[in-house]
Amino acid sequence: MASAWDYIVIGAGSAGCAVAHGLARHGAGAVLVLEAGPSDRTALVKMPFGLVWMLGDRRRDWCYRSAPQSGLGGRTLAIPRGRMLGGSSSINSMVWFRGRAADFDGWRVPGWSWADVAPAFDEVEDLLKPTRLRGAHALTEALSGLFPDNDPDAIPHPDRESAGVFAFNLSDGRRRSAADAFLRPAQALGVTVRTGAEVARLRCSGDRIGGVVLADGTELSARCGVVLCAGAIGSPALLLASGFGPAGDLRDAGIDPVADLPGIGANLHDHPGAGLHYEGPGSGYGLAPALWPRWAMAPLQWALSGRGILASPTVEGGGFFNARGDAAPPDVQSHFIPFRLPHDGRKHALKQGYFADVCLCRPASRGALRLSRQGLEIDLGLFRDESDLDTLTAGWLRLRALLAGADLGSHRAPEISPGPAVATEEEARAHIRATAGTAYHPVGTLRMGQDGSAPVTPGLRLRGVDGLWVADASVMPAVTSANTNAPSMMIGHRAGRLIAEAA
Ligand SMILES: Cc1cc2nc3c(=O)[nH]c(=O)nc-3n(C[C@H](O)[C@H](O)[C@H](O)COP(=O)(O)OP(=O)(O)OC[C@H]3O[C@@H](n4cnc5c(N)ncnc54)[C@H](O)[C@@H]3O)c2cc1C
Repeated sequence: MASAWDYIVIGAGSAGCAVAHGLARHGAGAVLVLEAGPSDRTALVKMPFGLVWMLGDRRRDWCYRSAPQSGLGGRTLAIPRGRMLGGSSSINSMVWFRGRAADFDGWRVPGWSWADVAPAFDEVEDLLKPTRLRGAHALTEALSGLFPDNDPDAIPHPDRESAGVFAFNLSDGRRRSAADAFLRPAQALGVTVRTGAEVARLRCSGDRIGGVVLADGTELSARCGVVLCAGAIGSPALLLASGFGPAGDLRDAGIDPVADLPGIGANLHDHPGAGLHYEGPGSGYGLAPALWPRWAMAPLQWALSGRGILASPTVEGGGFFNARGDAAPPDVQSHFIPFRLPHDGRKHALKQGYFADVCLCRPASRGALRLSRQGLEIDLGLFRDESDLDTLTAGWLRLRALLAGADLGSHRAPEISPGPAVATEEEARAHIRATAGTAYHPVGTLRMGQDGSAPVTPGLRLRGVDGLWVADASVMPAVTSANTNAPSMMIGHRAGRLIAEAA
């Protein structure tokens, strides 16, 4: 069959959009992007607060669920992932962090040190233009007082104890996603994009990938190859469904193995986190009657000026600190949300409040993604390494003490969850096991590395297979110390050039 395409990119998410743009800019030929979800043309994507209504909606969220987590007393967790143009960059909170230079140096992957990746971050930021959030709530602004000598206008950094308002990929109060920054410019350069095109498996002949098969049975060929950008859950899932992975597991799942690659799906990890809820009149945002006039005005205010409550991306700021207060670099990140979040099963309580969490920057625990006859099993492996729970508990207690001592002025409210019933370290530990979640930053399931056990090479090729590259959050050997959108875009941005140059 003659092929119309030189490259097929699977997934128009944070990385996939950047890959398509890179391929187009470097004249790689005819590029087709296949996205399972719909277009991103809805006000909920553009409006920063809109993510609240998209999460859990199966049209735009894959709504994955984890396997029961033994470290969390057997609880399962929601794993939201964007399912539309822009992928998770169309549903996320837009917090912008590169991570620490030491994160990338620590990967020990040739070509991916800080010196290698920093210029790509510069180029990505030229397009995304992340800036300090304007119009943050007074509570968020007050966070800069958490640590002495903190410049109130400086954006916190994972290298040092710091707190305040974060930077976001927002422009005039509107989301600027990977689709805005990369995909639409790529389309202007001739890239073709198909939505509603879910890839069911890869087509291979011998050890070469020649194209894809869509869920509706349509077969598409790619002369030069396929770039897999379906994310840290979607990319390994697609490889497993195509017969690439641990051969024993594949046979058990009723799939004929094409290549025995035990590393596929291994090394799954995320930033675990646990929070504190505060509630009281005159504090943060919420559905309290006192705020109804502001909510009533909010849609028009946002539409006309990009300001108001609906311009809040929910997370507005936070900080980085050492859980035990040591001089060592920060090992936890806090996200601050100046909204009363549900914590007692009442989603729509008519109250005001605020919320802060603490997440581990560099978790030691690892889980795995597997395919069985029952379907996809996503084991996040939370607290499998007990030291993670130790550090998170210490960080949670320190965050609580920091907020108790902060100058929050008239906006201060009492802690209502967990409240005074959880006071000792032992009680905090049990509470965290019972309530912890993740920051929605799964990575690592197709780790890149030079060693033979890494399924992806430093050149982003699936090991031992021709015509297939992987470029998304799945290739990170270890999660970066902060939010993962910018690093995912950086990976996609570098991949586009790298793949075009390889051709
Ligand atoms: C709710 C939420 C909030 C977050 N908040 C932040 C934040 O504030 N800051 C931050 O830095 N990070 C945040 N993150 C994480 C960040 O958005 C992700 O790490 C990043 O977007 C991952 O990029 P990716 O390219 O690997 O995957 P994605 O952006 O998820 O892209 C994968 C794409 O592939 C598509 N796809 C999957 N399978 C198939 C298939 N079989 N066929 C065709 N298409 C397919 C998907 O629909 C999706 O469009 C958040 C994530 C979520 C879910």
